[in-house]
Amino acid sequence: MQKIFLALFLTLIVTSPAFAGLNVVATLPWIGSLAKEIGKDKVSVTTLVKPNQDPHLMEAKPSMILAGRKADIIMYNGLDLEIGYLPLILESAKNPKIVPGKPGNCDCSRFVKAIEKQTAVDRSMGDVHPLGNPHYHYSPANILRVAEGMTNTLADLDRANADYYRANFKSFAERLKERQKKWSTIPLKGKKFVAYHKLFEYLAGEFGFQLVGYVEAKPGIPPSAGHVESLIESMKANKPNGILTTSFYGKKESESISAKTGVKLITLPGDVGGMKGTDDWFSFMDTVLASLQ
Ligand SMILES: [Zn+2]
Repeated sequence: MQKIFLALFLTLIVTSPAFAGLNVVATLPWIGSLAKEIGKDKVSVTTLVKPNQDPHLMEAKPSMILAGRKADIIMYNGLDLEIGYLPLILESAKNPKIVPGKPGNCDCSRFVKAIEKQTAVDRSMGDVHPLGNPHYHYSPANILRVAEGMTNTLADLDRANADYYRANFKSFAERLKERQKKWSTIPLKGKKFVAYHKLFEYLAGEFGFQLVGYVEAKPGIPPSAGHVESLIESMKANKPNGILTTSFYGKKESESISAKTGVKLITLPGDVGGMKGTDDWFSFMDTVLASLQ
C-alpha cells in the first residue's frame, strides 16, 4: 500500500506542470522582450500593453490586476509613462512582492540617463512628462543600461540562477555591440525630420539627426489649425527629410500634412512587435533605422 502511495506521489511530482521560474509582468512589449532575453527559460513573461496600443492612454483592466497578483516581479518603463494604470494595478493586486521599494518592483528608468527633465510643469504645457522623456526604448545606449539593471535585479531575486542571467546579459551586450557597428554606418547625420509626438529625441541624439518641428504643439493635445498651418509653411521652406509617426499616434494628421507639403510620411514601429518583422528589440531597431534612410 505504501508503495502505491509513493508511486502516486512521484507521478504527481513528475507530471506537475507548475512553472518553477520567476513570474515576470512587464508593462510594455519592449520590456517583456528584454526580460526574455535575460531570463530565457527561467522566467515566464506576461506583457500588459499590446504593441499597437498607445502607452500614454492605457487604463487598468481586471486581467492586468490578476497578472499583478501572480507576479514575482513587475518591470515597467517609469518616468510616469504608466501613471494612468500602474498605481491602480499595484494597489489592487495586493501583492507585497511588487510594491514600490521591494525587489519585485523594477522601474527600468532607474538605470537610464533621462533627457528633457522639466523643472517646472503646469497644465498649460500639455501632457508633458516632468521626470524626463520616457521614450528611451529607441536608445541603444540606454537599453544596454536597462538590460544590465534588469540582470542585476533578476540575479538578486533568484540567486540560484544569477550566473545564468549574467551569461545571457553578456551575449545580449555582445550582440548589441555588433549591431551598433552596423547601425553606425547608416547615414543619418544632418538629416532633418518633423515628428508627431516627442518620441524620437533619444534616437536623434544618438544617431545625429535633427527634429525640426512637431505636429503636436503640446504633447498629448491635438494640434490647432493655426499650428498645423504654420508648420506646413515652415516645412515647405525647410524641406525636412520626413514626418515621423507611429501607427497608433497621429497617423491621420501626419498623412494630411505629408500630402500638403510633399514631405514623405515615415511610419515607425512604436514598440517591439508593432510592425511585421519586429519581434525582438534588435529587429525593432533595425526597422526603425532602416525606415529613416
Ligand atoms: Zn510621450
